Amino acid sequence: MSSVVVRFAPSPTGSLHIGSARTALYNWLYARHTGGKMLLRIEDTDVERSTPENVRIIFDGLRWLGVDWDEEPVYQSQRVDRYRPLIDKLIAEGKAYRCVCNKDDLDAKRESAIADKRKYLYDRTCRDAGHGPDCGAHVVRLKMPVDGAIVVRDVVLGEVSFPAEELDDWIIARTDGMPTYNFVVVADDHDMRVTHVIRGADHLNNTPKQVVVYEALGYDLPIFTHMPLTHGPDGKNFPNATARRRSRNSPSSATCRMPCAIISCVSDGRTAIRNCLRRKS
Ligand SMILES: [Zn+2]
Repeated sequence: MSSVVVRFAPSPTGSLHIGSARTALYNWLYARHTGGKMLLRIEDTDVERSTPENVRIIFDGLRWLGVDWDEEPVYQSQRVDRYRPLIDKLIAEGKAYRCVCNKDDLDAKRESAIADKRKYLYDRTCRDAGHGPDCGAHVVRLKMPVDGAIVVRDVVLGEVSFPAEELDDWIIARTDGMPTYNFVVVADDHDMRVTHVIRGADHLNNTPKQVVVYEALGYDLPIFTHMPLTHGPDGKNFPNATARRRSRNSPSSATCRMPCAIISCVSDGRTAIRNCLRRKS
């Protein structure tokens, strides 16, 4: 078996989105083409919206597409204890810090930035304050580079450069201690030994943040591939589940066009699967 490990990591907060189905298919094709592993990770830390029923719908949808997976699915909700020591380690090494800025102050600064037509970025008040574990209510922020650029090397897009001045010290753990999305994704992908991250281009803006987490934790970077998003006949992106819910009262919404798009995607997907299998046999 090759050393390639890919993963599909849906959030079970709604049914399987057409773009997610396509992402799963590409990951699966790459795993089967290279003789690597296809893993599943259920990102179910949103306890209010993640339901067992939605997990079942995702599994059923993948099976219907002909996408299978190796090993038992990983459930993020069962890994919460894994993340805390990593965050403590980054604080101890001076790569992350406790921020005690209160919400009202931050909101005022955000509103003033909006009024001045500036992009709001956290002003790093607490970066060198050395707040200890007894500092009271706090979040934990990652020390991002303050100058230069973070370069993402991508199979499709080549080198994509993100100026450091456009990224602030983002929150890696909330006040309740729960780690945030871009942090746990890195810890999970590392622990699952993922070698290739293949996902939609809507994730590209997350990637420079994740690259800094990889470096801070001393992990090797995976190979990133960001695919163009799935478009409808009108050339617009298909809405995600939230947008569909918002637009459900509109008869002209993309929701109405979903069935024919699904049929064409599945038919494309099955053709792709058939071609892949034909090459292998
Ligand atoms: Zn602060």
